[in-house]
Amino acid sequence: MEIFEEQGLGIARIRIQESDSNYNYIAWCEETRECAVIDPIDPIVLLNFIRDRDLMVKYVINTHCHPDHISGNDPIIKVALTSISKILVHPEGIERVSPRSSTVDEGDIIKVGNQEIRVIYTPGHCPEHITLLAGNCAFVGDTLFLSGCGNTKFRGVPEDLFHSIDGKLRPLPDDTRIFVGHDYAEKNLRFALDLEPGNEAAQSKLEQVISETTEGNEPAPTTIGEEKSYNPFMRYDVPEVVEKLKKKNPELDTSPVEVFKELRSLRDTWT
Ligand SMILES: [Zn+2]
Repeated sequence: MEIFEEQGLGIARIRIQESDSNYNYIAWCEETRECAVIDPIDPIVLLNFIRDRDLMVKYVINTHCHPDHISGNDPIIKVALTSISKILVHPEGIERVSPRSSTVDEGDIIKVGNQEIRVIYTPGHCPEHITLLAGNCAFVGDTLFLSGCGNTKFRGVPEDLFHSIDGKLRPLPDDTRIFVGHDYAEKNLRFALDLEPGNEAAQSKLEQVISETTEGNEPAPTTIGEEKSYNPFMRYDVPEVVEKLKKKNPELDTSPVEVFKELRSLRDTWT
């Protein structure tokens, strides 16, 4: 587990054992101790943390409703129940969570103590996907990963994912910190280097990630600026990437959306 601190906002990032490299997050207001639990899987670990830090659960927020992002909702709400606790999801996902839930959509502000979390609607990995922006920290769920993006195999639409990344996430300020739903960093960076063998940012990030994990640590959260330098799913308009794909598939339409879709399907079968 790691703790981050950003202007009165505390963030705990918890790697869940025996999961698909999932991270759970707790974000809290340091002044009021109110917190939001994001994408809970392991209620015991989360509830222990909440108790030890003397936090009050105001919201459980699901970036999306795949089972590995909502399975801890009900135990958390049951144990940490207060008159103000609620589960929040996008309207497209409301039927996948318990009836004690409310909806949030693009532009909504979620107040957690004196902290504000802005909702950005980022469909594509699945129709109900939202990103949560607190100050310069973005909880991107499975929309974006270190050097990758979510797949579209389970209710996803690649065009929608392109528009979410191109229109909503890539334009965020370069120093926006990215808190992802899963750690697939090493394999994603190897995929990036397969496409762009000369990409020095990808090479040095891979070396950094290998040294972090060799020492038993998690890869540090990255930023939008860093991702733009090596993440293929933010580099669909970089000539080297387009050329490489065109060589593999001379018929390829090189518009950004088609390049993005080609990248997504290549990554689906890349080993
Ligand atoms: Zn997912």
